Amino acid sequence: MASKEKQFKKKSEEVAFNLRHRKTINFNIGKYLTAFEKGKLQYSSLEEAKTLASEVKKDVLQNLDYYLQKFAENFEKNGGKVYWAYDAEEANNYILKILKEHDAKTIVKSKSITTEELRLNELLEQHRYDVFETDLGEFIVQVAGEKPYHIVTPAMHKSKKDVARLFHEKFGTDINSTPEEMTMFVRKFLRERFIKADVGITGANFLLPDIGGISITENEGNGLLTASFPKVHIAIAGIEKLLPSVRYLSLFLPLLATHGTGQYISAYNTVYTSAKKENDADGPEQMYVILLDNGRSDLYAEEETNIALSCIRCGACLNVCPIYQNIGGYTYDVPYSGPIGSIISPYYEGEKEYKHLSFACTLCGKCTETCPVKIPLHELLIINRKKFVERHGDHWIWEKGMKFYEYLMDDRNHIDMVGGGVKNFAVQTFGKNSLGDKKEPPEFAKESFARSWVKKRQDGNK
Ligand code: SF4
Repeated sequence: MASKEKQFKKKSEEVAFNLRHRKTINFNIGKYLTAFEKGKLQYSSLEEAKTLASEVKKDVLQNLDYYLQKFAENFEKNGGKVYWAYDAEEANNYILKILKEHDAKTIVKSKSITTEELRLNELLEQHRYDVFETDLGEFIVQVAGEKPYHIVTPAMHKSKKDVARLFHEKFGTDINSTPEEMTMFVRKFLRERFIKADVGITGANFLLPDIGGISITENEGNGLLTASFPKVHIAIAGIEKLLPSVRYLSLFLPLLATHGTGQYISAYNTVYTSAKKENDADGPEQMYVILLDNGRSDLYAEEETNIALSCIRCGACLNVCPIYQNIGGYTYDVPYSGPIGSIISPYYEGEKEYKHLSFACTLCGKCTETCPVKIPLHELLIINRKKFVERHGDHWIWEKGMKFYEYLMDDRNHIDMVGGGVKNFAVQTFGKNSLGDKKEPPEFAKESFARSWVKKRQDGNK
């Protein structure tokens, strides 16, 4: 089987020239960008809010062990149970254990991009559980047998017509259904699953150590149902998802909403601190939080790049990235795509297999400019490149080629050793397709400018 890098290059080329894909993505990202511009208007100084958020996240990273311990202690004081999962396998084992203990059969999920790291749906289906994604976008991709295309808008690659056709094929609904009709259909379909569900699995946008709680932000209300209808709630969160205190939600929730969808604030923002208490009317009987490492400690150990752990998963860097806009979410072949995905995925999914992602960047810097927590994304990509070449070496052709390039550039006379004809022959023969087969290599003049200039000067002096 071709390496992940080869697959990536092949897929990139296919998707970049798929005009239908381009049209859908441009339309959906265009809508996002318009909303984002409006959302930013709520700030008198967005820059100040971003600076403060970035400082808060720096504090979290500097005191990660302290905040994690504090979260675990306070959450357990509230009556919940914390599991520490070193990797995906350990997290999956905890989930299976909990499901078995509670004799679960039906599971509803919401806000759970982290579970994509665990390949959880596949695992649960193998163990014959009925699993239903309940965010509309996640539900659509699950029904289509696909993975989320984007960390915030999982079905961004589908048009209204695509979804109507999909629902028609799978559920027999009208092929001309409007978005409202489709939403009502899904609402009814999922209500029945919520009522039947034994366990609700969610992610967590933020972990709040001071109160021992988690914060979930959403727009459809399905997160609330997932966390409160079933008798068991399991939340899976990366160990970096901390804020120092619940007080900082007033800073982070609007930042997340504006950068994620262009809203001032998402429709539902809920803090969950425990299972149902004695006098509560509803809520689960048990609540668990699984704190997931899965490569985060390895990234944390990288002093120059661990700032990437500040990410709040707003997805804004994906939307503004020219690479993402051209090659789309699936080409990355990892749960987190775009600039942030290219930085963290080698640590989460395998450095050797996914190091090439850090090279998929034009270094335009738009991601860095957009990020609400001021992660210098494009700079981190350069650092990743350097590290990965140092650790894993490079293709020998590339290494030899760069050595030769260094020799040529070292001295003007080296470049001018041969004329334009030889240069053109060399580029056409050895460099063909180096810019892809849609671009012609540059054509060299018969004589270099330097040579012509010298000649001209000499002729002038005669
Ligand atoms: S890196 Fe920044 S812009 Fe990208 S998803 Fe994370 S917080 Fe959002």
